[in-house]
Amino acid sequence: MQYISTRGQIQAVSFKEAVMMGLADDGGLLLPVTIPQLNAEDLAAFTDLTYPELAQRILSLFVEGLPPTDLKNLIDRSYGSFDHPEVTPVVRQGGLYILELFHGPTLAFKDVALQFLGNLFEYLLKERGEKMNIIGATSGDTGSAAIYGVRGKENIHIFILHPHQKVSLIQELQMTTVTDANVFNLAIRGTFDDGQRIVKEIFGDLEFKTRLSLGAVNSINWVRVLAQVVYYFYAFSRVKKDTGCSEVYFSVPTGNFGDIFAGYIAKRMGLPVRRLILATNENDILSRFVSRGDYSIAKVVETPSPSMDIQLASNFERYLYYLLDENPAEVRRSMAEFSRSGRLSFDVSLQQRVAQDFLSGSATCTETIRTIRDFHQKTGYVLDPHTAIGVKVGQQLAEGDCPLICLATAHPAKFGDAVLEATGTPPIMPASLKGIEQRPRRCDIIDADTETIRRFVVRNSC
Ligand SMILES: *Cc1c(COP(=O)(O)O)cnc(C)c1O
Repeated sequence: MQYISTRGQIQAVSFKEAVMMGLADDGGLLLPVTIPQLNAEDLAAFTDLTYPELAQRILSLFVEGLPPTDLKNLIDRSYGSFDHPEVTPVVRQGGLYILELFHGPTLAFKDVALQFLGNLFEYLLKERGEKMNIIGATSGDTGSAAIYGVRGKENIHIFILHPHQKVSLIQELQMTTVTDANVFNLAIRGTFDDGQRIVKEIFGDLEFKTRLSLGAVNSINWVRVLAQVVYYFYAFSRVKKDTGCSEVYFSVPTGNFGDIFAGYIAKRMGLPVRRLILATNENDILSRFVSRGDYSIAKVVETPSPSMDIQLASNFERYLYYLLDENPAEVRRSMAEFSRSGRLSFDVSLQQRVAQDFLSGSATCTETIRTIRDFHQKTGYVLDPHTAIGVKVGQQLAEGDCPLICLATAHPAKFGDAVLEATGTPPIMPASLKGIEQRPRRCDIIDADTETIRRFVVRNSC
């Protein structure tokens, strides 16, 4: 499979080049030249596969140049780190299905992709005789999933900036208790925005970027989307077994449009999804886009679901490419207009096309907490605040004749304050968090100054 850019100004690249490139060199995002098609017979054959077996089937359709045994080995190592034998189990609760994506080492769905990406990076770097220094800024969740993805890996060093004393205690501990020699936690004396700005400035120096082989693990890497496609098929096969249904809804708590875009790819591959339900918190640019064709940026507000406090959805451009009939010139025109004016609006005929694939809604902070409380009272099951948004919007929009699968993107223990507020009891701590306060930590507190951080990276690069 070859990969092209949404902006159409690079030559098609191989899978391996696409992995290493991240963002396409023309500023666009990479997509496969064609989307493989699966039929009902293929889907039926998935029913009895384990998660790693299914991952092998799906990933093989997009990966090239990797011997099947090597791919199997990467998959087995990536999902062997999950604490549930089914990797992403589906549970039935309160009249719907919950796809639990939080059994990885950092208890959030980002592990599904980043465990695999970390192993794949190590494999490809070794093959190419290269090294990589990963730099990223985090407000909490992505940083720890990225750190766990590459800890202890050869030829990779990772530098993650987080705002000193401005992430939750659990998030801070998840990052700083990783003491592997290739992991550098930098607590900057500043905000998350300072961190992002510094990372951007460092990447903006192209000579420095090349000299140090800088890499990123942000949500624009195609492999992150690809790895997430697998669990849509997995969940469908489990629910079909249970109900004999011919189609399903998926409700997806959405921030950067990465997770739900993976569902869109699955749908285009032939997975019978009636609609993908896009659920946002009060940062609702994406649900305004789906419901009225209004994609216009607003100020970010803080909510109890911080991983969705996002206005600029970095994967949106991938969807735009398909919406605009795979016409890169149109994508370039739209993206230029968006960066000029901060808004795009879509006419009725395009809105109707969006509506064939998506429904959307949003939940306020109060509704989020109330959903956690009500669901807990009704079922005894504890939702994290992100998952609760998907449950609330999904219940509102899904029609009763078709099963609803809600993606559970984080373990409730990661967001103890919201759970305590909603249910009156703190969430049960999973084994991986027990005693985390007592573990040794490794973290450098550093000024939020680009030059200081650049020097730190040079000194500690691989
Ligand atoms: C990142 C994240 C999301 C949003 O996922 P996107 O792919 O950015 O849409 C939702 N919930 C949790 C817990 C997350 O960490």
